[in-house]
Amino acid sequence: MSYHVKARKVKKIDTKFIFISGGVISSVGKGITAASIAMMLESRGYKVAPVKMDAYLNVDAGTIRPQEHGEVFVTKDGVETDQDVGNYERFMNTDLSSSNYLTNGQIYKTLIEKERNFEFEGEDVEIVPHVPEEIIRRLEKAAMERKADFVIAEIGGTVGEYQNILFVEANRIMKYRDKRDVIHIHVGYLPTPPHVGEMKSKPVQTSIRLLNGSGIQPDFLICRSEKAIDDRRKETLAWICNMNADHIIAAPNLDTIYRVPTEFERQGLADKILENFSIKPKKRDLNKWKKMLDKIGKLKKEVDIAVVGKYYETGAYKLSDVYISVVEAIKHASWANGVKVNLNWVSSIDVEKKGAKEILSGFDGIVVPGGFGSRGTEGMVQTIQYARENKVPYLGLCYGMQMATIEFARNVAKLKNANTTEVDDDTPHPVIHIMPDQEKKLLNREYGATMRLGAWDCVIARGTKTEKAYLEAGLIKKTGAPKISERHRHRYEFNNSFKKQLQDAGLVIAGTTPDGQLVEIVELPDHPYFVGSQFHPEFQSRPLSPHPLFVGFIQAVVKLKTAPEKISQQKILELSY
Ligand code: GLN
Repeated sequence: MSYHVKARKVKKIDTKFIFISGGVISSVGKGITAASIAMMLESRGYKVAPVKMDAYLNVDAGTIRPQEHGEVFVTKDGVETDQDVGNYERFMNTDLSSSNYLTNGQIYKTLIEKERNFEFEGEDVEIVPHVPEEIIRRLEKAAMERKADFVIAEIGGTVGEYQNILFVEANRIMKYRDKRDVIHIHVGYLPTPPHVGEMKSKPVQTSIRLLNGSGIQPDFLICRSEKAIDDRRKETLAWICNMNADHIIAAPNLDTIYRVPTEFERQGLADKILENFSIKPKKRDLNKWKKMLDKIGKLKKEVDIAVVGKYYETGAYKLSDVYISVVEAIKHASWANGVKVNLNWVSSIDVEKKGAKEILSGFDGIVVPGGFGSRGTEGMVQTIQYARENKVPYLGLCYGMQMATIEFARNVAKLKNANTTEVDDDTPHPVIHIMPDQEKKLLNREYGATMRLGAWDCVIARGTKTEKAYLEAGLIKKTGAPKISERHRHRYEFNNSFKKQLQDAGLVIAGTTPDGQLVEIVELPDHPYFVGSQFHPEFQSRPLSPHPLFVGFIQAVVKLKTAPEKISQQKILELSY
């Protein structure tokens, strides 16, 4: 008996599947393409379930070095996923979950567990068909969970790699079974080498040949390039790659990634996709999105923000992908405040080498994002001291909140050598220490998915800058419990045995867990804006709903920047958020 007959006994769902692959280079824009298509279809009233399929054997992204993987994006239900899931959430303006992310690690783990439980009842378990079948099962599950009309399955990596071949095979099998319900979109890069001065399509032709060799004929081709692909090259590609020239879509560089959906709309991509599935075009509602884009196009004033982190270097290059949600959240908040933003990547190790003043003077605001381990932490502390003393608006995210607590403890509360036990086990003043349940997990070497993860409630203290920010965003009210929910990813926490001492020295605890046990937000009152959160607000920032803590931060930045040049310390405080 052939296995596929058995596997397709029932067709449980009536969902269309759109596979997206990338070619020529990695980071070609598959994620933004997938997010844009998801958003365009949802703007027509359809439900879309995007799924990022990563080829690594790690069960999730939580255990991969940031330089290697980029940002670990955390979903509401606490899964440590790929940064593309963040792109989907930002474009779709929705919360996604564990079913929107899968890895080869998860697939193999499930199959091996099933085999050990005798669920295959003596069957010989093979890479093919069992791996692609498990991939298909998960894609169908994602469809059912979101009651989706469309699943967008983004194949991580580039075609031609051994690693992701079984995702492509899952696509082939699905297409073989349900020809009308499955399409494939290839995103390829068309370079214009400076010494030639002409756009080259050969690498894309080769990547489509690779797909053909795996039994896939793409239905659409998205051409990533500096300038839009011209008709001549479209015709060549159509002829060589067996494609409808009308299905070859330009994806030139744009001033912001958020313009990609409207650029695709201009070329009729969403309606063409519907037509390909024999679905009639449907009216879309992109009004809010377009208003936001209009606003971005008119911005004149600029602010300069330094993001002081430790994961920037990769060989001779700097990598801002590690903080992609932070970067996007700063942009969203800047646009909401009517300014453009220049983001500057500062390595905290450089601050250690050259001094905070030397590196940081001139910036309008400073952000210290999340991080792990001891390297570069002294540079973060020096950065925060500089921001506090010079009244430069400061936002600390997770490690940035912990480092702010350490800086305050050392330099204001005079607790010499205060530190986190993550960096110094023997510190005389462990103002940040490991959470008790986390200690056990580390002792047992249980590293995977064991941090304090996902969304947790937090109660905000009235009369704080934090309260003002959430009130202005309409996320809490003046009456009732000022409760918010934010996403976390950490093992260490504020040490409550230092709470009184630090509060007496002037630190404000602006938010805690509802039981009051975990400190979630600290801030300083005598400063234009100095806020640190144990959670990661950046994960919930969207272009259509920027995050209040970032909005408050940029608002303070703008107020100070537009103030007369020489202002007194008193005036700075009057201008504070
Ligand atoms: N390393 C710190 C902790 O584990 C902070 C984590 C983070 O910044 N995400 O608590």
